[in-house]
Amino acid sequence: MKFLLLFFIFMVLLWQWRHAREQKVKRSERNNAPAPGTIEMVRCAQCGVHLPATDALKGTNGLYCSALHRQAREP
Ligand SMILES: [Zn+2]
Repeated sequence: MKFLLLFFIFMVLLWQWRHAREQKVKRSERNNAPAPGTIEMVRCAQCGVHLPATDALKGTNGLYCSALHRQAREP
């Protein structure tokens, strides 16, 4: 009977430990995910203006706001 009680206590503690660990993982996943409706912003390597990453032009030295700035930085 004594061992059964110890086993029961052990199982309850194990369940609580696993539950707390799952909650911690869920909380960290929620904090790392971007909020819905947010847009990733990037900085132009030439003028420093911030613009949406989808509108940025890729160059060999970074991202640019326009073809003119890309040309000015990367002739
Ligand atoms: Zn620019």
